[in-house]
Amino acid sequence: MYKKIAREIKKYNIIVIARHIGPDPDALGSSIGLKELILNNYPKKQVYVVGTSASRFRYLGNIDKLPDINYKKALLIVTDTPDLKRIDGVESNKFSKVIKIDHHPFVEKYADIELIDDKASSASQLIIELAKVNNYKVNKEIASKLYLGVVADTNRFLYDYTSYKTLELAAWLIKKTNLNFTSLYDKLYTKLLKEIIFSGYISLNMQVTDNGLAYIKLNDDILKQYGVDPATAGNLIENYNNIDKVKVVAFCSEDKTNDYIKCSIRSKGIIINEIANHYNGGGHAYASGARPKTFEEVDSMLEELDNICKNITLEDTNVE
Ligand code: AMP
Repeated sequence: MYKKIAREIKKYNIIVIARHIGPDPDALGSSIGLKELILNNYPKKQVYVVGTSASRFRYLGNIDKLPDINYKKALLIVTDTPDLKRIDGVESNKFSKVIKIDHHPFVEKYADIELIDDKASSASQLIIELAKVNNYKVNKEIASKLYLGVVADTNRFLYDYTSYKTLELAAWLIKKTNLNFTSLYDKLYTKLLKEIIFSGYISLNMQVTDNGLAYIKLNDDILKQYGVDPATAGNLIENYNNIDKVKVVAFCSEDKTNDYIKCSIRSKGIIINEIANHYNGGGHAYASGARPKTFEEVDSMLEELDNICKNITLEDTNVE
């Protein structure tokens, strides 16, 4: 499959790379890293990365403004995105060919070539493998983006789906480019003071049910009071996914601009993406997101999550 993708990359002179809406470092690292990888090996090609930019992750590189291109002669590569509706910034049906490179559980087929490995830690890991298998030239810039994508999605190689392959590919990248990887961590893990203060609010006001569901509902007034946006709680949730006896964590923030409640959900072994699916969401088995329209829907989602916590003990899962 990696060779097949390389053949398509070689064939097309115009290549557009997209990823999912609400990008995280893996979505950005895999798409921007892939753009730079292609240009490093084929400097004459026109390669564009599209989608809304995320100022918080500007260090991962810039997003292009797509010029007028001849779509009939262009290849679209979408990274880190399992379904059509979550592709940011392009209409895939305009392109001559579409390739998907993803590590989410399968949702739908939308590409001509689909490379899906839902046991891979990250989309960035798949791009590193693409580079390795095809013996592409890699430099430090490319390596830093792909490495940060892997590190962010695995939370520094902590989460499930971090495998020997993840470590092997990360080591290959470091060795190949002499990457000073420890100097990159500041970029990912430096927090704003207001986020730390806001996490104090979350810690004090989070509810924990008898069944092991920890949750907080944050309305727009609270977010304004702390000067944070609806994505902030989700960015802090990893710090709460290792509390004794807590099986599932859900942080739900009102997003007035988009007119939904942005929920991030994490678990330590209970499959949560099926419940997220009922509330305009999805994602990974243990790391999901949902977008219910109202706080009433949030309550009903929390009830479903609480029920699943009640019915499944951690011993029933494969998490020790
Ligand atoms: P987040 O909590 O936003 O970091 O998202 C965790 C995971 O769930 C990521 O893989 C997201 O791509 C996925 N996800 C978040 N929101 C949604 C959604 N509304 N629909 C489908 N997947 C989502």
